[in-house]
Amino acid sequence: MLIDSGDPRRPSAETALHLKIYRAFPEVRSVLHRHAAISVGLGRASGDAWTIAGHELLKALPGVATHEASVTIPIVENDKGMAVIGAAAMPRLAAAPAFMIRSHGLYGWGRSIAEAERVVEALEWLAEAELAERRYRG
Ligand SMILES: [Zn+2]
Repeated sequence: MLIDSGDPRRPSAETALHLKIYRAFPEVRSVLHRHAAISVGLGRASGDAWTIAGHELLKALPGVATHEASVTIPIVENDKGMAVIGAAAMPRLAAAPAFMIRSHGLYGWGRSIAEAERVVEALEWLAEAELAERRYRG
């Protein structure tokens, strides 16, 4: 994380958002949030969702068994208020393993820390591939 929140004993300012995900999806045991430049850039260059289709790495996401799948990652606007972000994101998360906050970062989750890490790392790789594809297509 690039931003040091100071006192390591102080909970993240985004704790409430993490808790909303745990409460909405009881099977979720780990929620990760990162501010990687690649996902922030993709979020800024996209509309209100990022649909990924046809990539082999989609199979790294829970419940996806084939590269022929399509997964849509919601993108919500950034806000100082976690309640505002949560209200925008939560109704859109039932079919997604993650969401993006525009100009901010990526949330991903799973039934374990390993699964949540796999989701976040796969989406960051897919974001790099998406932006490379857009660059080459012009
Ligand atoms: Zn953040």
